[in-house]
Amino acid sequence: MSISHYLQQFQPHIHHLFSHALTQKKWSHAYLLSGQKGTPLKEIAIYLAKSLVCEHGQPLADDTCQTCRRIDAGDFVDLHVIDGQEASIKKQDILNLEQSFSVTSLEIFQRQIYILHLVETMTPEAVNALLKFLEEPQQDIYAILTTESVHSLLPTILSRSQVVTLKPIEQSRLVDLYQQAGLNEDDAQLASFFYTTPELAKAWVSTSSYVALKKATMEWLSLMGQKVSVMKLYFRQNIIPLIQDNTLAEQWFSWMIVFLQQSLRLQFHQKVVLKNFRSALLLLNDTVIDHDVLVTLTEETIHRLRLPVNVPLLLDQWLIRFTKGMRLL
Ligand SMILES: [Zn+2]
Repeated sequence: MSISHYLQQFQPHIHHLFSHALTQKKWSHAYLLSGQKGTPLKEIAIYLAKSLVCEHGQPLADDTCQTCRRIDAGDFVDLHVIDGQEASIKKQDILNLEQSFSVTSLEIFQRQIYILHLVETMTPEAVNALLKFLEEPQQDIYAILTTESVHSLLPTILSRSQVVTLKPIEQSRLVDLYQQAGLNEDDAQLASFFYTTPELAKAWVSTSSYVALKKATMEWLSLMGQKVSVMKLYFRQNIIPLIQDNTLAEQWFSWMIVFLQQSLRLQFHQKVVLKNFRSALLLLNDTVIDHDVLVTLTEETIHRLRLPVNVPLLLDQWLIRFTKGMRLL
């Protein structure tokens, strides 16, 4: 699904807002795209950048002209993308950006654009440098910022940009969409918690780490109700070795939170999304003493992953505390 199509279908207010901004020549100097984790923020930011310089905008980018294709290929000198997903955005990144803008536009459109993806990862020094930059908007320089954590941003950033919020998409709609895109039911249900486009969902479930981890996790959950030593042994032998880095660990802990929250819904006879995982959810309800305690424990563990930690050790510490919150033999 193209981003243009995605915006029309799922975020029509955004499609309308930017179409209007272009036709009325009211494009702001800085936008901040805010969306939940899993929304294609960077892809939308790039699409909007294309729309500013597209040769045959309608009015948004057509995705097919030479300029659009050059942007897709990362070969358009007047677009700068700094990706906070890869590493936190530093002061020097912002200074380099300003430096490159002091040179006159090299392309025929005379519009220079920068994208700062995930501004919540900026260091305080970088934020200060950016604020100065945003304070004195220059003609024909356009900023598109993105965030998955709008509440953690300084009000000064919010006040200097126009905040555009992506709507959360109803989960049952996502599950259907993912199945139409070729995912099986299990994967579609799981992915609907973490991704909001079929492409992202598909990319995720086709990684070998996902496949192995899902299998091991389901086996591990099926051991609930058995001896605590059995559960611990299985976890240490089959799950810890699969979780090599912080990103994967964060993802896996997020699954656990989803499982706990879904099982709690089931206990209170509320609708669940993980319909295919009903037996695991029921087992959790039989075994867990207090769901909230384990959710909090897992959230705290995710928080600790943001610091330099030994991931296998952290997983082991979590395991010990997690199993204490269960009725096990
Ligand atoms: Zn184009």
